[in-house]
Amino acid sequence: MKTTRNQQLNNDSANCLCERLGKHYFYYSYNTEGIFTFLSSGITLILGYSLDEFLSHFSTYLTNSLENSKVAEYNRQTLAGNKQPAYPIELYRKDRSTCWLEINEYPIIDETGKVIAVDGIARDIDDNKKYEYALKHALERTKYQDILQAALDAADAGVFSYDVINDHTWWDNKSYDIFAVNPKTFQNNYDSWRKLIVSEDRAATEKKFSDALNSNLRRFEFEYRIHTNNNKIRWINVKAQITRNNKGQALWIDGLHLNITKTKELEIRLQESESRFRSLVEKSPDWIWEVDAEGCYTYTSPYIEHLLGYKPDEVIGQTFFSLMPGDERARLITIFQDYIKKQRVFSGIEHVNLHKNGNLVTLESNGSPIYNLDGQFMGYRGIHRDITVQAQTKKIIIEKEIAELANKSKSEFLANMSHELRTPMHAILSFSNFGIKKFNSAPPEKLLSYFNKINQSGERLLALLNDLLDLSKLEAGKLEFNFRLNELTFVLKKCIDEQEAQLNEKNLFIKTIYSEHNTQAEFDTVKISQVITNFLSNAIKFSEQGTTLSIVIKADKLFSDAGISKGLCLSITDQGIGIPDNELDTIFDKFIQSSKTKTGAGGTGLGLAICKEFIDAHHGRIWAEHNPQGGSIFSFVIPLQQPKKT
Ligand code: ADP
Repeated sequence: MKTTRNQQLNNDSANCLCERLGKHYFYYSYNTEGIFTFLSSGITLILGYSLDEFLSHFSTYLTNSLENSKVAEYNRQTLAGNKQPAYPIELYRKDRSTCWLEINEYPIIDETGKVIAVDGIARDIDDNKKYEYALKHALERTKYQDILQAALDAADAGVFSYDVINDHTWWDNKSYDIFAVNPKTFQNNYDSWRKLIVSEDRAATEKKFSDALNSNLRRFEFEYRIHTNNNKIRWINVKAQITRNNKGQALWIDGLHLNITKTKELEIRLQESESRFRSLVEKSPDWIWEVDAEGCYTYTSPYIEHLLGYKPDEVIGQTFFSLMPGDERARLITIFQDYIKKQRVFSGIEHVNLHKNGNLVTLESNGSPIYNLDGQFMGYRGIHRDITVQAQTKKIIIEKEIAELANKSKSEFLANMSHELRTPMHAILSFSNFGIKKFNSAPPEKLLSYFNKINQSGERLLALLNDLLDLSKLEAGKLEFNFRLNELTFVLKKCIDEQEAQLNEKNLFIKTIYSEHNTQAEFDTVKISQVITNFLSNAIKFSEQGTTLSIVIKADKLFSDAGISKGLCLSITDQGIGIPDNELDTIFDKFIQSSKTKTGAGGTGLGLAICKEFIDAHHGRIWAEHNPQGGSIFSFVIPLQQPKKT
């Protein structure tokens, strides 16, 4: 140490003076460049540093950077010639405990009034300061300490401090408990701590610790295992904060030891159960999957390769529907839109998928919605099961049933047909025979009635042949349609007029309701007349004497691929024998008659099939319903305008 101010002050006498002031003071001087020119030996008594140690490291002894700048400002003011009031600063002692000093500095001014140095006296006020601090915070501290202790206990956490430079640890009682060591015999240093770490974890843990110290991190956290004295394993999570000097060197570490053994054991059990579940999933003979809220696969079990030939990676990110053929895709999208919208569980949904090799595979799906912790919908999880064999068997059974039904219908048709052909033919032959035999004897009125009967039977035969002809033309796509803007009420009226005799015969009453102002539409009059006549003649045929037929024409809508279009609807409601529920659709099939009328009612079961073909050709819809008052309702709706031909 240079003592350039010996001219102003005799060091020995200053030392003498300070010694007399007692062990709670030390005296110092520094020059205008801030370099210490004198320090009294009291500093060693108060802070524990030798004079040389203190001179070379002064700034690292200040406890924080705020303190540092306060000291710099104080020195600057004194060097400017302003006498400062005494002020307290906090320094580290050599043993890393802290010590409060009161500094009292004054400038030394030469004859010209220039500051040439600063002299100062430092007084150890640590006891007062700590007492004052303790007093101030006593109440608050007890309150918060209790809360903190409760929180630490609840978290199974202990507090520690580690003096890096002096290799000394301080643990609270909880830390000793966690590490299961005796506070009286435990050596509070790094080596004793590292020996508690299980040998497999030791090198890695020490590396994490030294990496944290040698980095510029302020905080670190890691986990390791220790052996307790009864040879059990305990998991520790350490969370700590590093205090560094202004060169970044770690001085002090404060932190928490958390005993996370229970959490870790749970985690390990969870991992075990997950791996058990995973191996079950991966060995399952079903395809187990998860999709996100957009329907894209986020997981698929490896069984997919067995079912569809794809590896899981090839389908992750693809949608549920992407492996289906086009038509099937559209069908399933429609079905699933509703499930996804309502986030409903689904089961037993059958769908056809394409194997990588081009084969069709039928799968049956079950799935449940999945949600995250916030209750937000995340997608579906479920199972696809291969039911190709069952589906094929089912298809064969259905085809067989259809074939049997077709066969039965054909036999019924032939029986009906021969009846329908034979009855008028028989009438023609009988009445023409009568005519021939009685040509000379029968009065002309009698002969006329024979001719009338022959004529009616001929008409009936012609109608039947027309039906058959229509049908074969329809099937061959050769029937021409003449679409024009027509008035539906006119056509209806004409059809009713034509049936007047039959209506009167059964004493039936017709009630018409036109609830739509515009009753015009683009249609083929002949074909629509034929549909209305078919509806009417059936209604008359299957109605009781004296009942009412209600006919309504109203506006309606039509749904198609091209969107929604406006249409006209005509319905005929009768109070007749009605149609069983399960036959409401099939009676529009060719040669099909309702089970209620099959025996003896006559007819061929062709009329409604032809009507359906006609209405389909008009881009309309035709259907039958129950009349809640008994009987049936037959309706069709046709668009106001026919779509333009492309
Ligand atoms: P057909 O009357 O010549 O047998 P259709 O195709 O017109 O042929 O009718 C098919 C069957 O639908 C009828 O045989 C009958 O069983 C049933 N059906 C049609 N209209 C009615 C109705 N208004 N009430 C009861 N059954 C009906």
